[in-house]
Amino acid sequence: MKIPDEHLAGCKVHPQANSTRAVVLRRPGAGVADVDFLFYLHVQASDKCRAQPGLLAYAAHCRTDAGGRPLAGVVVLCRDRLTKLTAQVLQGFTLFLQCHVEDMKHHAPTLLHSPPPPPIQTVLHELLHALGFSKDLFDTWRDCSSENDFSAGVTCSPRGKVTHVDGWGQMRLYTPSVISALRRHLVAADPELGAPLENWDAAPGMASSHWESRLLQGSVMLATPSRSGIARIDPLTLAAFRDTGWYVVNASRAQNLVWGKGEGALFGSTSTCHDNSSSFFCSGSGLGCHHLHGHKARCQSDHYLDGCRIYKPLEKGSECWEKANERNSSEERQGGEIFGSDSRCFFSHLSTLNHSQLMVTGRCYRHKCSGLNRYQVQVLGSDWVDCPAGGSIQIRGYRGSVFCPNERLCLDWDVRPPSKAEDGVPTGQPEVTILQDDTRSAYGPATDPLVTTALCVVAALSVLVFGLASSRGSPCKVRIHPALGDV
Ligand SMILES: [Zn+2]
Repeated sequence: MKIPDEHLAGCKVHPQANSTRAVVLRRPGAGVADVDFLFYLHVQASDKCRAQPGLLAYAAHCRTDAGGRPLAGVVVLCRDRLTKLTAQVLQGFTLFLQCHVEDMKHHAPTLLHSPPPPPIQTVLHELLHALGFSKDLFDTWRDCSSENDFSAGVTCSPRGKVTHVDGWGQMRLYTPSVISALRRHLVAADPELGAPLENWDAAPGMASSHWESRLLQGSVMLATPSRSGIARIDPLTLAAFRDTGWYVVNASRAQNLVWGKGEGALFGSTSTCHDNSSSFFCSGSGLGCHHLHGHKARCQSDHYLDGCRIYKPLEKGSECWEKANERNSSEERQGGEIFGSDSRCFFSHLSTLNHSQLMVTGRCYRHKCSGLNRYQVQVLGSDWVDCPAGGSIQIRGYRGSVFCPNERLCLDWDVRPPSKAEDGVPTGQPEVTILQDDTRSAYGPATDPLVTTALCVVAALSVLVFGLASSRGSPCKVRIHPALGDV
């Protein structure tokens, strides 16, 4: 879409230097009344998209207020990288979302018919960049720790530089809520534990706009998009938004981040990821399970992992909870596999008695929770068997064992298995269902992912409107220049 002139400030040029004579190219628009943030979504085959074949989308904020808060932002989705269907849906979606807390609910029904999860994850990620999670904005964040600052609507005090390189060369973000959220997550004592930023996509000594991949797998703010449905709006990302000083954040809306939980301050460092001290990392290139146990996976690395290796979902047919992935092959039967909504991935070397023992690999078995971190497992043709977390079990009629993951299953309310009603069938009442249980965004048969993510973000972030105009109840007008040259 073309941004309406109404949204824009005027524009005039002075044809001659030092001359007061000006030619008005565009008269000043009225601005957009009573809006905290204006978000433009653009589906385009831009030069930038063409220049970077791996790029899915990029974002920029285009205007900030006196307190440094972004007032408008644009997300460009690279058209050629979208599936045909998604492109059609998005192109018909004339777009600007007025991100206002109360308004958002009314937008939700329209968004229901919007695209499938991967682009949504991408849009959400880019939106969070435009709202303030950006290397260009970190150092303009405000300290509003004094409540008086907040309620008076003043712009609080600048935090100054908040990103610094630690003694090991890792760039970290040091702001109070982020530090305490990371300490809580890792159960680490270090009072100066800044959150690491990605070092692969930033120039030496410069900050990245993403969390470090080794430390925060599963977060929505990683440099590489997660596989469908896995990205979380995690506590650390929400803490960062709180530290911007521009938003009121409801931290209770954060989604649980399983990766690295309770693993201590050294978790995810390049010096410890190889030493088998953590079950989140692996070595070699064998098959196994993704750390959330929804997917079969292979031990792999990539640039962002700096040589550390983790189990990444297989390209195809990796979802244990997807009945359609069942091929009924002799290998699956031999290993006792069952696919379906309550199936999860387990490390196992089960094989039927008439076959020789198999290598340990990731296999899909049914599971049901019987308590916190307690569950039973069912293998093809077997009864339900208690699977002690951290231990292993044998199954009658099979040789070999199934290994029972510890603190990965039946623990977090939002990482629990999808219920039967959610097995690919829209259940209606999305707002109610989602606010209580967003499992589908975690594991898959998602029927309304955009509503899930939109409501999560809106629920989590409330824009604090600065300025006397809004406190008096009159419309708060902003004028926006489409300064879109930057990323
Ligand atoms: Zn990004």
